[in-house]
Amino acid sequence: MHSQIRKIVEELRSELLGLSHSIHADPETAFEEHKAVAFQKELLEKHGFKVETPLCDLPTAYRASFPRKKEGPVVAFIAEYDALRDIGHACGHNIIASVAAGAAIALSKAVAELPGEILVIGSPAEESGGGKVLLVERGAFRNVDFAMMIHPGTENLYGRGGIAATHVDVEFFGRASHAVEPRKGINALTSMIEYFNSLNGLRQTWDKGHVLTGIITNGGKAPNVVPDYTSASFVPRSPTKQGLLLILEDMERAARSAAMLTGAEYTMKYDVVYAERHPNIVLGERFRDNMVQLGETAVFADARIPLGSSDIGNVSLELPTIHEYIAIADDSTTSHSDRFREAAVSPRGDEAVLIGAKALAMTAWDVFSDSELREKAIAEYREKVLPFRS
Ligand SMILES: [Zn+2]
Ligand SMILES: [Zn+2]
Repeated sequence: MHSQIRKIVEELRSELLGLSHSIHADPETAFEEHKAVAFQKELLEKHGFKVETPLCDLPTAYRASFPRKKEGPVVAFIAEYDALRDIGHACGHNIIASVAAGAAIALSKAVAELPGEILVIGSPAEESGGGKVLLVERGAFRNVDFAMMIHPGTENLYGRGGIAATHVDVEFFGRASHAVEPRKGINALTSMIEYFNSLNGLRQTWDKGHVLTGIITNGGKAPNVVPDYTSASFVPRSPTKQGLLLILEDMERAARSAAMLTGAEYTMKYDVVYAERHPNIVLGERFRDNMVQLGETAVFADARIPLGSSDIGNVSLELPTIHEYIAIADDSTTSHSDRFREAAVSPRGDEAVLIGAKALAMTAWDVFSDSELREKAIAEYREKVLPFRS
C-alpha cells in the first residue's frame, strides 16, 4: 500500500504543485482566504471529495470528506493557507494545504474500500485569529479520531511542542486637563505606568516559563495635557493554557487596581487563547519510519529549542494529533522572512509537498490498518494530554 500511495502522489505532482503555486501567488491573510479555499475545493471535488464550506460559520473554513466505504476511524488532514500581511506566504502555508489535499486524494485512490473516513479540514487564520481555536470550540473535530499535518521548516522534525499564548489589549480612560491644573484631570498615563509596575511585581510569582511582553501603544497626546487615554498591547505566554489563564487573572486584577488608583476606567480585550501543543509521539514515530522509507530522515525535536505557538495546540488537546516539519530551506533561513517565502515555491519546497503528502498518507494508512497503532496513540493521548484539558 505504501508504494501504491507513493506512485499516486507522483501522478498528482503537477496538480499538487499547481495548487501550491496558485495559493502562494495570491496571498490572503486571516479569514480572507477565499481564493485559496476555491483552489483547494476545485481540486478536491475533481477527485470525488464532497466539500462543505463555510464551516462552523467561518466563510474560509471547509470540510472535505470522501464517501465512507467501511466502518473505521476518522482521520483528518489539516490544511492551513493564510498568508502574512505585507510579506505574503513567508510561513509556507501553501505547502501545508497542498500536502493535506495530496495525502487525502492519494489515500482515497490507493484503497478501494477504506476502513474509515478521510477528511481534510481547512483551517483559516493560523497566524492571527485562531481559526482552529474557533473550529474546535464549534465542534469541527468532535467526530474526528486523529489529526495530521505538516509544516514547512528548516529540518525534518517530529514531536515538536509549542507553548500557550494570546494577545491582550488594555485601555485606560481618564479625563483631560491642562497640565497646570492636573487635579482637574484623571491621568490615564499614571494608571498605565502603575499597570506595568504591578505586572513587573506579579511576574515574580509566576512559574518558570511564563513570559509577558508588552508595549504602550498610546501614551498620551502632548506633554502639557493630562492624558485622558492610554493603551497597551501584551503577549502573555505560558507552558500551558491552564497556566496562561492564571496570568490573565493577574493581568485583569492589576488593571482594576491601576484604574482605581487614579479613578480612571479600564477595558481589557482578550484574543483567543492558542493552547500548548501535545504532539502524539506514537504517531510521530510512525511518521518518522515512513520518512525513512521514503529515503528521508526525521529527528525528534530538540526540547532546548525555544517553542512558538500555533492553534494546532487546541486541536492536540482534543484528539491525538501530529504537526511535523519538512525542510524547505537550510537553517540559516528563518520563517516569516523573504527567503522563506521564496523557499516555499522553490524546487526544494515543491519536493517537500510530495514528500509530505506521501509521508502523511502512509502514516494515515497505518492508522487505518493497524489497530494496535491506534490503541497506543489513543493510550498516549489519554495518559499525557487529558490531564491538561480544562
Ligand atoms: Zn507562521
Ligand atoms: Zn505557519
